Amino acid sequence: MTKLSGSRSWLIAMLVASAILTADAQAPLTAIRAGRLIDPEAGRVLTNQVILVEGTKIRDVGSNVAIPAGASTIDLSQLTVLPGLVDAHNHLALTYKQEPESNVYYLTYVMDSTALRAIQAVSNGIQMLASGFTIVRDMGNNGNYADTALRQAIEQGWVPGPTIINSGLIIGGMGGQFFPSPEMAKNHNIVYPEYLDADTPDEIVKAVRQNILFGAKVIKICVDCKPYGYTSDEIKLVIREAAKAGLKVEGHVQTQNGLRNAIDAGIWSIAHDTAMTDEFHKLMAQKGIWRAGTETPITLTGHTSPDRYKHSVEMLKSAYENKVNLTFSTDADYYVPGKTRGEVCLEFLRTWKDAGIPPVDILRAMTIGGYRVSQTETVRGPIKPGYFADLIAVPGNPLENIDALKNVQFVMKDGQVFKKDGVMTPAAFFHGGPVNGWRIR
Ligand SMILES: [Zn+2]
Repeated sequence: MTKLSGSRSWLIAMLVASAILTADAQAPLTAIRAGRLIDPEAGRVLTNQVILVEGTKIRDVGSNVAIPAGASTIDLSQLTVLPGLVDAHNHLALTYKQEPESNVYYLTYVMDSTALRAIQAVSNGIQMLASGFTIVRDMGNNGNYADTALRQAIEQGWVPGPTIINSGLIIGGMGGQFFPSPEMAKNHNIVYPEYLDADTPDEIVKAVRQNILFGAKVIKICVDCKPYGYTSDEIKLVIREAAKAGLKVEGHVQTQNGLRNAIDAGIWSIAHDTAMTDEFHKLMAQKGIWRAGTETPITLTGHTSPDRYKHSVEMLKSAYENKVNLTFSTDADYYVPGKTRGEVCLEFLRTWKDAGIPPVDILRAMTIGGYRVSQTETVRGPIKPGYFADLIAVPGNPLENIDALKNVQFVMKDGQVFKKDGVMTPAAFFHGGPVNGWRIR
């Protein structure tokens, strides 16, 4: 062992002292009395449960959990408590609108700076949390890494919001999802940063590394946005490079060729139901590939059509019958006047109901499926001892009527109350500094 210099031994003494101080500080205890508690995995409702929360985590759950002296209590005896919901595909730093851009995000990208979009993302995140979404996978189209900024702001402790699993820039063949003019693409680099061009193996490796460096927690690729989409081997290269950092890969897929390549490569998740068929669902089920179908409901006028909606409903039904790994995913990245971002996302329940999927399995997709596709299932999601205390409560029983989820009255995130009696109470989440640590990148 080398001898410590004076300044280093001083530093270590300080670190030990602060560790002792931290250990001495008692984490606050909160006992939640739940009239009903849903376990989505078992598909059952337990009555008169106590959930004991210590600091940010759940310490105990059960019908005869003793409430320690000094614990504060929260009475949800008239409500149904359930774990937080997951939207497995959104874009919180993108909000296109009828006015002025006719719902075409080319103009949003030109008019809204990354800074403005990051602030929109904070607001959209708060709106999602208020509707019970405690985890959001944010899958690109976020300007110059506004999604990373959002995740850091929430994790460091500046603002409330869901747990964010963000993708950074969408990686794709030249042009991404845009069809720019040669002048705008070559003279003005208009595609970047909405998309990150990667056409050769070297560029693919570098693009994945850039996203990891700038804070991505999942990698998103355009599999087939252009006729020169990725081959199975190229997708495998993305998967291998992402895996070095423990990241999974989601593919935007819109053609049957793209689906074949993505499935063959063994991609983690596939977004959009555009090209899906019964046959492809069978293959996805065999390989355990996650499905983020983003099934826009017919009620969101202008964002789907009767034909597209019919396809979405039929394919969701097919995916369910073929036992594909299902997630609840919306791609709801637009403004619907009169609705919050969270309320827009809950409109998507309509498609799931029209597909004839039982409420318990809709709820499983929104919870267990969401935790697994987000890779949080061992630390965050289920209401079990040792997990982060993320939970919500609604009147009625979502296992009988899934629309009960549209009336979230209570939200707890990381052990802190965010919404109570239907009203947001976010004061405890705002801080004048990075209270959870500036090292969170
Ligand atoms: Zn999307």
